[in-house]
Amino acid sequence: MRRFQHYIAGQFADGEARFESLDPATGAAWAEMPEAREADVNSAVEAAHSALYDGPWARMTASERGRLLYRLADLVAENAPVLAELETRDTGKIIRETSAQIAYVASYYRYYAGLADKIEGSFLPIDKPDMDVWLRREPVGVVAMIVPWNSQLFLSAVKIGPALAAGCTLVLKASEDGPAPLLEFARLVKEAGFPEGVVNILTGFGASCGAALTRHPKVAHIAFTGGPEAARRVVANSADNLASTSLELGGKSPFIVFADADLTSAVNAQVAGIFAATGQSCVAGSRLIIERPVKDEFLARLKAKAEAIRIGSPLDMATEVGPLATRRQQEHVDRLVQASVSAGARLVTGGVKPEGPGNYYPPTILDCDGISSLSLTEEFFGPVLSVQSFETEAEALRLANDTRYGLASGVFTQNLARAHRFSRQIRAGVVWLNTYRAVSPIAPFGGYGLSGHGREGGLSAVLDYTRTKTVWLTT
Ligand code: NAD
Repeated sequence: MRRFQHYIAGQFADGEARFESLDPATGAAWAEMPEAREADVNSAVEAAHSALYDGPWARMTASERGRLLYRLADLVAENAPVLAELETRDTGKIIRETSAQIAYVASYYRYYAGLADKIEGSFLPIDKPDMDVWLRREPVGVVAMIVPWNSQLFLSAVKIGPALAAGCTLVLKASEDGPAPLLEFARLVKEAGFPEGVVNILTGFGASCGAALTRHPKVAHIAFTGGPEAARRVVANSADNLASTSLELGGKSPFIVFADADLTSAVNAQVAGIFAATGQSCVAGSRLIIERPVKDEFLARLKAKAEAIRIGSPLDMATEVGPLATRRQQEHVDRLVQASVSAGARLVTGGVKPEGPGNYYPPTILDCDGISSLSLTEEFFGPVLSVQSFETEAEALRLANDTRYGLASGVFTQNLARAHRFSRQIRAGVVWLNTYRAVSPIAPFGGYGLSGHGREGGLSAVLDYTRTKTVWLTT
């Protein structure tokens, strides 16, 4: 069985305890993971704190930091096959998707490498002739980063890249459900030449490791991605220390299709929008809101595509949908589907949990027209699409905004004015018009409402890892 280690203060070490990681495709234990508890967390935060104030990192120029990030980006790209395979092995995310995503991960590090020496202070034109006042931009401090199991290399890159560009140091907690890719990534951090303590990577459980990290008095900022429940505990833990937080949480994103849309492109985008990553995606377009005259045709085309999806081993390049990451997640998805069917949802396809060892669940479509059901309000984080139809634009907008979340949204229409109206009126951090799931390091990303606050990506993300210091000088 493979054994992984933590990376703390520039050293690889076993954790205070260990736990087994299960292969989502077979249910068999395949690797042993280190488990950090309070002592490991304390060592990691202390290491990050001394690296921030006392080590060579504190004296490094911005362009030197950028060069290290460029090196890291190259190493990620060179090691893409290993990283992709580990992510697939440990989380069940299909190899086709993990391989493609690593290229993105490298591009995020490259983007932030380029920004490291573009963080500028400013000079203030105050009305005192004998005084100069300026603002310095300094790193916010030691950052605690916490990520969920899906896309860990990507979700950590959007935090690590800007934080290091800004000069912060960090402790990253990989999810207990599939930490292998991030523990391996730590080797690349070391090889890139970051001084010891600048980046510390460990894993452990939320209630112990996560709580110790978010309560730690030397943590200045917490960058959290996960669900709203854990987020509430993170915010409560941060209160003691008054650390700032940025929260990237779940979603129940509307995917709105008008009768005038290019239906072929809308069907394809909807299939990828909900079934990619086996639905374990915060931006999953999980609520189809479709104009009534085209509902039957659209659903028939969706059903045919959903039933043609190749389900299989995540390590097989031909597989299109793999297992869910954990047995717990498979049971959660099935429970919600059965509750929705009991509440009157009509199963268009799927909805039957397969017998057998892996955590598989078939692509599922629930017609929820005319009912109120959990499937319209709760995040499945699985391959389940809920469908509602509308007659007027106002009704489509009302249904789209009928959620406590507000992460992403998609609108398919040929009517340009309507597309603009929706981009203003939808309450979500991202609006995709006639496309879905487009991302770029340059474009900020984040949510409204229960989907969290703070933005990742873009230049503003770097500034969020800095704070200003006002300096006054009598001349
Ligand atoms: P989760 O909230 O249960 O866990 C996420 C992380 O938080 C894990 O590392 C976990 O160990 C940690 N954690 C749990 N309790 C904690 C505590 N008390 N203190 C500190 N850390 C704690 O989420 P999950 O079930 O692993 O992931 C799925 C969720 O993540 C979904 O809601 C999904 O939408 C969301 N997500 C959001 C984004 C985004 O960018 N907005 C991206 C991916 C996933």
